[in-house]
Amino acid sequence: MTDIPEDHPRYKSLLTRELLVKGVKDGITSMQGLIAQGRGEAFDYLLGERTTGSAAEAERVAVAMMLLANRPVISVNGNAAALVSEELCELSKALDAPLEVNLFHRTEERVGKIINLLRSKGASTVYGDNPDKLIPGLSHDRAKAASKGIYAADVVLVPLEDGDRCEALVKMGKRVIVIDLNPLSRSARTATVAIVDNIVRAVPNMTAMAREMKNQSPAALEDIVKGFGNEKALAQALDEMMDNVKNAK
Ligand code: ATP
Ligand code: MG
Repeated sequence: MTDIPEDHPRYKSLLTRELLVKGVKDGITSMQGLIAQGRGEAFDYLLGERTTGSAAEAERVAVAMMLLANRPVISVNGNAAALVSEELCELSKALDAPLEVNLFHRTEERVGKIINLLRSKGASTVYGDNPDKLIPGLSHDRAKAASKGIYAADVVLVPLEDGDRCEALVKMGKRVIVIDLNPLSRSARTATVAIVDNIVRAVPNMTAMAREMKNQSPAALEDIVKGFGNEKALAQALDEMMDNVKNAK
């Protein structure tokens, strides 16, 4: 990786790019993943590259929903693996939710590499190398899911999910949580809970929350989930972005 001086004003953002380029070189991230990251970065700049109040609230609701779930699953794609593989393993443990590798540009080789990476970072259960079910309404490769993983899940956390897949999972009756910096994307608008935050901030935040909230009663967790509305939260995210832009004038 290129050596980036820690005192560079854009250190974190540049480091993230380096991790993705490494992901592509290692055969973990697709080339298209680089473009997706670019789109995300633009929205992150508008947000002020911070976790906003509405994002923190959506993270709390998402954690409560995962803790209440009977079968929670965390989906991992090539960008997530390059950026937060270790952090996703920690979240998986904190929530007691297995991981499933789920790729838009699927190759068995990439799936295998990501599973190995996650195992090397301490993941216990990782589905994805033997998808034996198809999600209705999607073309074949993108429909693949594991019968014990995403297919049977009641709550799925899908960081950076494509809009179409998100919609198909919602149609199956699942509660779908996405992490997506673009509050206008179809994924964000279709999800049950959209977290408008960078995955590199959202995942560690959620792990800390999960550790803190783990011993709360189901009734207390239900209370957190009950007050949430995705449309309202997305409107808040847009307001936060616009306020940030106005303040820059
Ligand atoms: P739609 O949901 O409307 O179909 P899309 O599929 O066209 O959106 P893609 O470019 O395929 O969008 O997916 C990338 C999405 O992931 C973008 O919306 C982008 O904002 C978001 N994204 C990219 N990198 C990150 C990141 N590091 N953290 C959070 N979100 C990110
Ligand atoms: Mg898409």
